[in-house]
Amino acid sequence: MDSRVIAIDGPSGAGKSSVSKRVGKQLGFLHVDSGALYRIMTWQCLENGIDTSDPAAVAAFAQGVEVECRPEDGAIAYYVKGETPGDRIRTPEINAHASHVATVKEVRERITAILRGMTQYGDLVVEGRDITTAVFPDSPARFYLTASAEARAARRQKEEVEKGIANQSAEAVKASLLARDKIDSTRKYAPLRKADGVLEVDSTSLTLDQVVDAVLAALPADWKTA
Ligand code: C5P
Repeated sequence: MDSRVIAIDGPSGAGKSSVSKRVGKQLGFLHVDSGALYRIMTWQCLENGIDTSDPAAVAAFAQGVEVECRPEDGAIAYYVKGETPGDRIRTPEINAHASHVATVKEVRERITAILRGMTQYGDLVVEGRDITTAVFPDSPARFYLTASAEARAARRQKEEVEKGIANQSAEAVKASLLARDKIDSTRKYAPLRKADGVLEVDSTSLTLDQVVDAVLAALPADWKTA
């Protein structure tokens, strides 16, 4: 049987990761963080002195970046030269450059092909910015997760402090999120947008359980009994 794919898009900090992980665990679908692939490309560009504002340089360099994907503990894990990138790809510096790298057509084509290839590992719950519109637009289970900018910034800031990644003010985190949202939703190739036929869930005043329940309730009936 073909793999089933739950596709979840939305802006930064809308809760996509927490929701996708929970939904995946509940159903036995592998969690796929597509943003991590854009972050890995960005990390590799920065490590190798590539100017992320030069699309031709990024496109040429990205062709040579090898990312190994392995199903591990309910998710697809990524390795670069045998190493997991971990929180190195979650720094404010990577945040500031990732959206620029993600505007590059060749980078998007490469990552889209990697994501589509993951169906070989089984059923997936894939989160990102163009999953419902470009990567898996035919999925019968597509969602657009959103929340107010303040709620998103507050969640991201808490996460950064808890993980010891950074210690920025809520205002700085909000400014960074809004800057990324703008680039992500106005870029030429596969911009972030709410596609027709997706279910929008605004998590501003919902608990994680409530968002997970809303997603589960909207799935095709036979997916819930998998
Ligand atoms: O989801 P996350 O915040 O980790 O994504 C980092 C960046 O990667 C986003 O701001 C966006 O520019 C890019 N991205 C994308 N398409 C996706 C996932 C992420 O363009 N499907």
